[in-house]
Order: sequence, then structure tokens, then C-alpha cells
Amino acid sequence: NLYRWLEGGFSLVEEIERGRAELEPAQSSIKVRVEREKRTTERVSKVRFFPDTWKKFYLDWMRNLKDWCISRQIWWGHRIPVWYCEDCKEINVITDDDFDRAYDKIIFNLIADGKLENEFTPEEIEDILRSPSFVHPHMTVLDFYKKFAFHRYHSTEIDASSLRLFFTQETNPMALLTPGVSTRSLYRYDPKKKKWRMVLRCGKCGSENLRQEKDVLDTWFSSALWPFGVFGWPEDTEDLKTLYPTDLLVTGFDIIFFWVARMIMMGTFLKEDVPFDDVYVHALVRDEKGQKMSKTKGNVIDPLEIIEKYGADALRFTLAALTIQGRDIRLSEKRFEGYKHFANKVWNAARYILMNTPPDFATHLPYMASLRPEDRWIMTLLGETAHAVDTALQNYDFSSAARSIYEFLWSDFCDWYIEFTKERIYRPMPEDEEERSKVLSEKTAALYTLHYVFEKALRLLHPFMPFITEELWHRFPASEGESISLTDFPVKKEEETFPEDREKVDRLKEIISAIRAIRSDLMLE
Ligand SMILES: [Zn+2]
Repeated sequence: NLYRWLEGGFSLVEEIERGRAELEPAQSSIKVRVEREKRTTERVSKVRFFPDTWKKFYLDWMRNLKDWCISRQIWWGHRIPVWYCEDCKEINVITDDDFDRAYDKIIFNLIADGKLENEFTPEEIEDILRSPSFVHPHMTVLDFYKKFAFHRYHSTEIDASSLRLFFTQETNPMALLTPGVSTRSLYRYDPKKKKWRMVLRCGKCGSENLRQEKDVLDTWFSSALWPFGVFGWPEDTEDLKTLYPTDLLVTGFDIIFFWVARMIMMGTFLKEDVPFDDVYVHALVRDEKGQKMSKTKGNVIDPLEIIEKYGADALRFTLAALTIQGRDIRLSEKRFEGYKHFANKVWNAARYILMNTPPDFATHLPYMASLRPEDRWIMTLLGETAHAVDTALQNYDFSSAARSIYEFLWSDFCDWYIEFTKERIYRPMPEDEEERSKVLSEKTAALYTLHYVFEKALRLLHPFMPFITEELWHRFPASEGESISLTDFPVKKEEETFPEDREKVDRLKEIISAIRAIRSDLMLE
């Protein structure tokens, strides 16, 4: 019950302020008063922010919390379940917890939410329960209640037509003889109007002369309940137990106070734990000159057009690559083009490998013995890249992660390693039996490394380019399972790390590059 927060916890305390003039009840407001406790301060400061600069900003605000007016005079929002007694001025908080039976709870909620007038016919209720839910248009109002509000009350037995029966039974004098089913004290029938009324009484004086608060809850008050509300809170559901608290919230800086801080407040108070460990504050996307995108300026980049032109993978990779913590993204169309080339490069690498793979390839895997320095070199780099990508992702450094996998695939794998393998892959088969088996073994070692490293690289690239990697992964004979998403993320392995070979091949690369540079200086070919 949100309004009875009088004891303990984070101490959001109910306080109802009357307006200065009794004649203007609309001016009255409901506030949450702030009190502080040490353990709460410790809890709320354990949330990590990325970039870290936002943490100070957030903590400053939390330390200087002001009372929060949670009632709003707007049309949209959750109605506040407060009824004022016109006779004794008592402020009554009534919730569905005050009713035992599921039908009563439903009817009360319909009335409290303003969906049903408190003068109704059973048919009206039935119509509302059968109508589409506003929140989930594919569900009826009743389905929504059953799934999200009343799942604990054997709600499978509730249906709209039996609800009508519930009232017919009441008008039937025989019902009086059935113990325990009487709703007589809760509903009153007006034979003239042929309508029912749910009887709500003042808790203090028993008067029925009540007036419901007209204000609705501040949007951010409702949104603050989201981290646990969606999992069936206040019930201790399996989902809630498993999924609260969660790891990460991704959001924009402009709602750190409105939403993030309030989710943390509510979670700390009602669930005794912060709702998430990490908050990632994402960048804003601006145009290449750093201007905000707007339709009037005409500098808007439409993601759907970009996907059409360059592919969804290029769009996703571009945004990841340009996402540097604490900085806005300056976006231009040229960027997407660059990463579309990258996607093509990866595709062509896969083609090269698969075109040179014999159909019975899998059986050749044990040839690993004859690896050459360049094979061990690329394996070492694969491990280093896996480590770099993983570390960057742990720190939500998407740009570094994207850069590492990009450089590995584009430069190390495609430009160098594939070139190194061509000599073995394209070597003609000798006539001589012994020679032949040696060449085949070397070729297989190259192919094995190509397959092994490329498949792992696809997994590293998968979070950034999900479509192309999934597509290619299924074409590789070593891929086992339903989806690349379900494979393990590669890790650096000591037994696949060869520092000497890495150094040797790096030196060779330098020499080759130097020769190429000289050649191009001398314009030789
Ligand atoms: Zn009263």
C-alpha cells in the first residue's frame, strides 16, 4: 500500500497537505516527504554510473532531496485511491487489499481507476471486462487483471459472465440462505434506477458520504514502480525473485532525476534493494556538425532508410563504434558506408574459406600438429582480441570493443592472415604420394586455422552485427546448435597464446609493409 508508508524503511512518509482555502480543494496536493536513513544512503550510492561523471550529479540530487508532490491535475495517470469523508474530514486510503474476493477487487479497481461509475449494471462491468485493455491492446481488461493484478486469487476461474451471475445471485432471496456469499453489505441495489452501487464507507465515522481524490499520480511516481511492478509485485513471484534486481539500466541523461533516481528510491524502500547495479547513460545522436537533429533543419537521419541502404548490421555497428562514453555521437551517412564495406569484407572472408573447404572437411580436424607460425600468430591475436572486446564490454565501452573486433577482422585476419594462407590453400597437389600427403596436411592446417579463428571471430562480432554473423555461422560445418547467440563468448586461452610466433610474424609484417612502401615510392609493381 503506497500510502501507508509510515513505519521504517526508506521513510517516504505520507503527507497530505490541504490547500489554503477549503473552497479550492483542487489545489490540495499529496506529497512524499523525505526523511533520511544512513543505510539507505549506502544502498543508493552503490549503483555504478557509466560514464562515472553522472554519479556525482545523481548523488548530489539524492542528498538534497526535496519533498515530492505526487498528485497532478492532469487527465492522464493513475488515480490516487484516496477518499475524503465529507462528514468527518477523515482521509481514507482504500485499496483492493481491503476486499477479500477477486470479484470485489476487480469491481473496486474499475471504480477506483475511473473505468466504471459507481452506479452500474452487471452488464456494464461485463462489457468493460471484455473490452481491449488499454495497456495491452491484445488482451481484454479482464485478461489484463488476471495476468497482472489478480493472478494470486485463483483468477483462472474468473470470467466476465459469471460475474453477472454473482449479482443475479444477490437479487435472489435464496442467496441469503447460502452462507458466505452475501454481498449485501458491500453492494446496494437501486430498484428504480436498476443499478448497483459499491458501498464505500469512511473508516472513522462510517459515513458513505465520500469524495474521491480527483488528482492523478505524477507520471514518475508510477514509472518508479516499473522495475518490480512488471514482475507482479507486491506478490513475491518467481519472476520478481529471479529478475530483481537486474544488472543494467540504459537511459538518457535527461531523466536521471525523474526516472532513474526515483526507481532507486522506490526500490530501496519497497524492495530493500536498488533495482539495478549499473546505469549506462547513453549518448545523444547529433548530425556531423554537432547539431541536434530536427525535422525543420532537415538534418534527420532516418534509421529505416539507413537499414534499407546499408543494412541493419552496418547501422548497429556504426552506432556502437561511435559511442564514446560522455560524448554525443556525430553521425553522417558516410559512416554507414564504411561499415557496410566491413560487412562485405567479412562476407568475402567467409566465401574464401568455404569455397576452399572440401565437403568432408570436418574429418580432417586432427591435422593441428603442423601449424605454422602465422597460424599460431592469428590464434594469439584472436585471444588478445577476445580479451580486449570482453574487457571493453564489461566497462560498457562499446567503441573500443567495436574497434578491436574491426581491426582484428579487417586487418589481421582478412588483409594479412588470409593472404598468408593462399600459398598453402592454392598450392597444386603433387603426383608423388608422400609429397601429396605433406601438401594436404599443410593445406588442412591452414584451413583448420581459418575455420577455427573465423568462427570464434564471428562470435565476437555477433553482438555488433547480429544478422550477418548468424547467417554465416550456420554455413560453417563446425557450428553446432541452434544459434550463434547461444554459443559461448570466446575467451583468451593460454594454450593458444604463442608470444614468440606473434613477435616473429609481426616483424615479418613490418618488413613486408616496408617493401610495399618502397615499391610504391618507386612506382614499381
Ligand atoms: Zn468520516
